[in-house]
Amino acid sequence: MEVNCAGCAGCCLDWRPLSPEPLDHERRGGRVPLDDAYNLVPLTRDEVKRFVDAGYGDALTPRLFEPGEGDDRVRLGGHDVAAIEGRPAFFVGLRKPPKPVTPFGGDRRWLRACVFLDPETLQCRIHGADHYPGECADYPGHNLVLDQETECERVERVHGGNRLVDRTEPPTGTLLLGPQAVGTKVFVHPVPDRLDDTVARLVRGVPRDADRAEFVASAVASSAGSLAVDESRVAAVRDRVVAAASWVGRAFAEWESVAAPCGEDATEADTGVEDRLGAPSTPGWGADGGKG
Ligand code: SF4
Ligand code: SF4
Repeated sequence: MEVNCAGCAGCCLDWRPLSPEPLDHERRGGRVPLDDAYNLVPLTRDEVKRFVDAGYGDALTPRLFEPGEGDDRVRLGGHDVAAIEGRPAFFVGLRKPPKPVTPFGGDRRWLRACVFLDPETLQCRIHGADHYPGECADYPGHNLVLDQETECERVERVHGGNRLVDRTEPPTGTLLLGPQAVGTKVFVHPVPDRLDDTVARLVRGVPRDADRAEFVASAVASSAGSLAVDESRVAAVRDRVVAAASWVGRAFAEWESVAAPCGEDATEADTGVEDRLGAPSTPGWGADGGKG
């Protein structure tokens, strides 16, 4: 597998406003996400814990789903939510604030992008770090193994260029599918009764820090291969997530306060917000590094 990522970041941002065709691969068939994020990166329990331990609890957000046909479900905040044995099931991924970015050789536009994407270089600020997600390191390997279209091919189709240079399938060792994903990549919340308002805010796209923390903490307190969640651990991790105050959370708030609607011109925008708040720099495409 070989990808040409320079000037792309298609798998790190929501480029739906730049596509004449609907990009709905996450919302076909059953189990449609209850949020509107594009290309959420599902993290493993250990990765979620590493982010929390690194002080990046403010980078994380949950994803819940509408039930697919035949799925167990619970009713929360006026919505049917996919569940396992009566407990809402969810992923944890990375948040996407609006940023001023220039993907695919176009003009600078406001698009929702991963918290860790450098809007200037379109490289990942945590590439190669301990908490760099395995899903990002492997991308688009899982799609190739599962014979699903890759984001690289979608970008090629809409914006041209050669992005997926070599589609040789990688080893399948890191694929987590089926029951083994429970407690490792698919989590459950142990006390659905306290989630009505939380789910309603998540669906409206306005979760509070405490809402995100409920799910992040439940993921960290999960047990691999089981529905067991250590509730005393949930309480401790929840407090740490709510208290997280990294450059990511501060940048998220600033981007939200200055951004124009997604898809609109951003040529006058200040791209140095994250650097000023303490974000790690990226090397630029002349050096080794970045997404890939
Ligand atoms: S992996 Fe594919 S979609 Fe992602 S940045 Fe690279 S070429 Fe673009
Ligand atoms: S590669 Fe980096 S910027 Fe892209 S989605 Fe993954 S963590 Fe975010």
